[in-house]
Amino acid sequence: MNRPVSPLLHDYKQSASDKPKKPKALQWFAVGLGIPLIAVALVSTLDSTPPQEVISSAPVMSASLDEPPIVPPVDQAVLLEEAAALMPETVPEFDKLVLTIRSGDTMERLFRKNNLDLGHLMSIAELDEAKTRFRRIKPGDVFEVTHDGRDVVSLYSELGLTSALQIERQESGFAAEIIDRPIEIRKRMAYGVINSSLFESGAEAGLSDKVIMNIAGIFAWDVDFVLDIRQGDNYYVQFEEIWQDGEYVADGEIIAAEFNNNGRTIQAIRFIDDNGHTDYFTPTGDSVRKAFIRAPVDFTRISSNFNPNRKHPILNRIRAHRGVDYAAPRGTPIKASGDGKVIFRGTKSGYGKTVILQHGGNITTLYAHMNSYVLKVGVGTRVKQGQTIGFVGKTGLATANHLHYEYRLNGVHRNPRTVALPDAEPIDAQYRDKFMASAAPILKELEQFKSTQTPAVAYNDQ
Ligand SMILES: [Zn+2]
Repeated sequence: MNRPVSPLLHDYKQSASDKPKKPKALQWFAVGLGIPLIAVALVSTLDSTPPQEVISSAPVMSASLDEPPIVPPVDQAVLLEEAAALMPETVPEFDKLVLTIRSGDTMERLFRKNNLDLGHLMSIAELDEAKTRFRRIKPGDVFEVTHDGRDVVSLYSELGLTSALQIERQESGFAAEIIDRPIEIRKRMAYGVINSSLFESGAEAGLSDKVIMNIAGIFAWDVDFVLDIRQGDNYYVQFEEIWQDGEYVADGEIIAAEFNNNGRTIQAIRFIDDNGHTDYFTPTGDSVRKAFIRAPVDFTRISSNFNPNRKHPILNRIRAHRGVDYAAPRGTPIKASGDGKVIFRGTKSGYGKTVILQHGGNITTLYAHMNSYVLKVGVGTRVKQGQTIGFVGKTGLATANHLHYEYRLNGVHRNPRTVALPDAEPIDAQYRDKFMASAAPILKELEQFKSTQTPAVAYNDQ
């Protein structure tokens, strides 16, 4: 009865009788899950992480997206070559070993297995830098050792994308040093036209999943990538690529992007403030984000829309449905849709376990049928947008697990899916001039690139 229907069936392109092909549905599913995640990730990482960490975390993000991990499984010869290039001062007559940590390995075990001097290991392990490194070894970590028989001459291990531990034997013993591994940021432009989905168009344009998801994350505040996409919609994007030692490592952040959706154009330009916080703004300095998340849960489908004349499934009589029901598995986190304060938490008759938030601009939001609350989020607690306040359930009058979500402006129920959401704060006044100055050349490059691309063709006649 409640067959799980992908929200993608709302896709304009598919008729009701078209069953989605499995791979495509899976891809869509990934994007559906990815958009809210990325949106949150953008907000949180970009809010709090210094730029260097954003860069160093990039390969981790891409690793889960089938992109090359930081240490690609290349054959030993290549690694040795790299090791040689990285350690130009190493005298070449010593032997070299590339030790890869496997599950259950310790440094001692590796040293024993390779007939290396354990006394040397003990001396090395006394160095603070090495101690810290050894404490964090995990499967897949690589240690490159040059040795003279059992004697260790040097040891090298990457600490992340931008640094490495280098240990050298000196006359007085071993010395450790954290060395920089410089990366190079290259800029790349791309243009995509949507025929069926953002995902497929991105793949056609040669974009990685990460870049596609980040495009979706930036524009998700304005564009519903399931419901709003039209054939012929197109986008331009300028993004960073991270290169090291002449090799591509991973895609970085998006610098600027333009999305043309159903006749309207939205442009977003990155700005990094003095604290290293990254955010995206329109050319006039307005935020591309909204003060509210449209759907405060990663849902599998919309199980009931805002409808003043709905027949209630349990009460079996006309009873206005003043919110939207988002079906999601029990326990799915429910997020505060905007910054605000908890003004109610408790059981509210048919609503079951419910939380109500008060926001600025005389807006309140309500979250019902919760399975449970987040304990520390009680009445009076201030919450940030995206913060988890409870978990999906079916308490109260509910036939299945879902979030019932209401949005009230000046006490009047509005359709959460269509109400015009207030924008998030524009660029901070102290940064406005700096943003304008940095945005101008970026926009110029974007325009230049656009002029070299085939103008978008609209396929509205299908
Ligand atoms: Zn409902």
